[in-house]
Parts: sequence; structure tokens; C-alpha cells
Amino acid sequence: MDDIIIVGAGIGGLTLGLVLHSRGIACRIFESAAEIRPIGVGINLLPHATKELAALGLEPALAQVAIATADAAFFNRFGQLIYREPLGRAAGYEHPQFSIHRGDLQMILLDAFRARAGHDRLITHHHCIGVEQDEAGVNVHFSDGPGGARSSTVRGRVAIACDGINSAIRKQFFPDGGEPRYSGVNMWRGVTRWKPMLSGASMVRAGWLSHGKMVIYPIREVSGADGLQLINWVAEIETATYRKRDWNRTGSIEDFIGAFADWHFDWLDVPSFIRAADSVLEFPMVDQDPLPRWSFGRVTLLGDAAHPMVPRGSNGAGQAILDARALASALFETGDPVAALAAYEKQRLEATTRVVLTNRTNPPDAILREVFQRTNDRPFKAIDDIISRDELVALSEGYKRIAGYSQEALYSQQALRK
Ligand SMILES: Cc1cc2nc3c(=O)[nH]c(=O)nc-3n(C[C@H](O)[C@H](O)[C@H](O)COP(=O)(O)OP(=O)(O)OC[C@H]3O[C@@H](n4cnc5c(N)ncnc54)[C@H](O)[C@@H]3O)c2cc1C
Repeated sequence: MDDIIIVGAGIGGLTLGLVLHSRGIACRIFESAAEIRPIGVGINLLPHATKELAALGLEPALAQVAIATADAAFFNRFGQLIYREPLGRAAGYEHPQFSIHRGDLQMILLDAFRARAGHDRLITHHHCIGVEQDEAGVNVHFSDGPGGARSSTVRGRVAIACDGINSAIRKQFFPDGGEPRYSGVNMWRGVTRWKPMLSGASMVRAGWLSHGKMVIYPIREVSGADGLQLINWVAEIETATYRKRDWNRTGSIEDFIGAFADWHFDWLDVPSFIRAADSVLEFPMVDQDPLPRWSFGRVTLLGDAAHPMVPRGSNGAGQAILDARALASALFETGDPVAALAAYEKQRLEATTRVVLTNRTNPPDAILREVFQRTNDRPFKAIDDIISRDELVALSEGYKRIAGYSQEALYSQQALRK
């Protein structure tokens, strides 16, 4: 009855469960899926997020399965290097940047939550269909899976919607919110077992959305397989039509490989690399307009349920982790749950709104757009003729400040907490 009810055992819900447990606050997590399986492909955790996971004692487990990303490299579609900069610890951060399979991350969070809070604290096969509240608590209603016939109600102190981009609770509070907004860019994603490229821990962005852009980074060492890595890639192309997002929709290589047919670089033969993929998934790049509020009395939204964003800043999972930390702190510090949820919204809504909007216009790949436009999509003789190093650094650092992971932002937060 006094439990915090968390709806959804994704990255945000599980992190919230772990932080609440570490603060001695009882919670239960209810997940729609009958069984939590390691679904998805690559995800990045930037230093502001790994800092929070390290505080939960999870860095060693993450380091075992993830790649500590060491540098970002930007190329045009002719394979010419535009800009390279160190990342994570290689850039002097106290915490690493991890590139990781989403499934590995989710399983580490899940195992830690079950081991620490207890197996009975995570209840699967509970699909949230709505929530009601009164002065003393919340009643959260569930069915046994989407469209399920059997229903049940759980009573708690507070309800937190961590149920992702299609959040049922978000729809309850914003019934006219509509479907996720298509950005005009379609994505094909996959993983390929391949030998390490560049530094072996590089995050590559190449090309531009109008003609085809690739994001490529390793997410796991493949044991006993001739030093191969599991390498995550995303092909992003401006496309008029799209199909509704489904994390499991299989894509066809022939639908997009033409855009990369002549990408034969000395550091990677892109067509061969794509054709060697284990499997290909297709989904549209979508987000939603920022909401005016998340907290309604004893109910609030977190992660993608609150602020779905286009994945151009490697930030969706990270922002959910930051939300979890902020919300748990507010609940810990404030006796009144309604005041705590309002304080959490105050701390996080404006900050994430800036990230959602900047991801649309000026995420890190704005570097690629600038060079694409200034060169008229032609090879250059020397990058300094096109754009100065200072401009490139400014584009990169500007995004870090907005997303909250510039070195100054992290260090000043630390100074404040001391
Ligand atoms: C299956 C899946 C695969 C993904 N793959 C990728 C990927 O490859 N790359 C990438 O960058 N991002 C991926 N994402 C998105 C990414 O995980 C999130 O953007 C980010 O981590 C924010 O996390 P979140 O906890 O807010 O939402 P999510 O991680 O989306 O978690 C939401 C959770 O809520 C559950 N849920 C949904 N509806 C209900 C309901 N009504 N009642 C109860 N539970 C519900 C879902 O099953 C899920 O476990 C994926 C998400 C999912 C669900």
C-alpha cells in the first residue's frame, strides 16, 4: 500500500527501482511483457548517466559487457575525416562513455534490482491501462498483456509511468497528444560481427541524412571469434513514407543499401559490412512535442513516457537515468509525495525539453550538416578551408552543455553536492 508503483521495467523504470531501493524507499515494478528479454540493439551511455550507474555500484558489471567508447569521428560520404575528438575517460571525464547492447544494459539493471529488492518486487505480465488517485494514494489498473481480458488493480502511494514512448498513462493525461511525430528520417539498424575499426572504440558518424548517413560503433567484444566485435550500426535516410514504430520490425537491406553502394573506405567497406549483419530492423525516427507538465498529484511521467526524443544525441536512455535519480532524490528529501513529484518536474522538464528540441535541430551530427552544405556535397581538399577547428569544437561542446554532460556541468554539480 505504501509502495511506489513503477509502471514499466525498461531502462528508466529499473534504474528508478534501484535508486529508490538504495534510498530505503519501497517500490514495486509492473511490466507489460510476460518475460523480460534482452531486446534492442545499441545504446550509448554518456558520462552523466554512467556516473549515476556507478553510484549504484554497476560500473564493473557494465564494463564487462560494454565498450568504453574512446573517440568520436565524423566523416563525409567520401570517407574524408572532418573531425575527431576523445570521449569519456579518454577525454578526461571521471566516468566512461559506454556503448552497450540495450539488452545487456536492461539485464544488468534487472538482475541488480531482483538481487537487491527481491524477485517479488518485479511483476511481469501486467499491462497498465489506467490510473486513479485520491487523497491517500493511487489505484493502478492492469490487464494481462495488451488487450488482455483479465484485469487487476494495485494500490500504492505514488505511480510513476516509465512505460516508454507509447505510455498508457501519458495518453490518459494527454488524450489528444496524438501519435509520435515522424522526423522525416527512416532508420535501419543492425549489428555485424566485424574486426575492430579505427581505434576499436570509435563512434563514427558519416554522410548526411538527405543522401544517407551512417552511425557505427562497437558494443561488445565477441569472445573466441578472432578478435571480432559486435558492431552496432544505424543507416538514417530522409524518406517520405514510414511504418509505425515496432521495435521488432524486420527491415530489408535492399531498401537502403543503394545509398551506401560506393562507400568503400580504407577504414571500412560499408556495403560488405552491412551485408554481413546478423539481422536488420527498421523503424522511423520519431519523437513528441515537449509536454507542458508531467506531474498530476500522485502520478508522474519519466523517461520516454515523458520526453521521447529522436536518437541523434545518444541521450534517450541517459536522460531516463537522470530522471530516475532526480525523482528518487525528490521523494527521499520531501515527505509530501505530491510536492516531491512537482519538484522533480521542476528540475527535469525544462532540461529535457531543451534536449528534445536540440536533438531536432543541432545534435552532434550538425557537424555533418555544416560540411555537407558548405561543400555542396563534394569532397574537400582540406577541412580547414571549409570549417575551422574552433567552429567544430563549438558545435560539439554546445550540445554537451545542453544535454548536461559538459565537463563543467558535471564538475560544478559535483562541487555543489560536496
Ligand atoms: C523493446 C525495446 C527495444 C528498444 N531498442 C532500442 C534500441 O535498439 N536502441 C535504442 O537507442 N533504443 C531502444 N529502445 C528505447 C530505449 O530503451 C529508450 O528510449 C530509453 O532507454 C528510455 O527508456 P524508458 O525506460 O523510458 O523506456 P523503454 O526502455 O522503452 O521501456 C519501457 C518499458 O515499459 C514497458 N511497457 C510499455 N507499455 C506498458 C504498459 N502499458 N504497462 C506496463 N509496462 C509497459 C515496456 O515493455 C518496456 O519494458 C528500445 C525500447 C524497447 C521497449
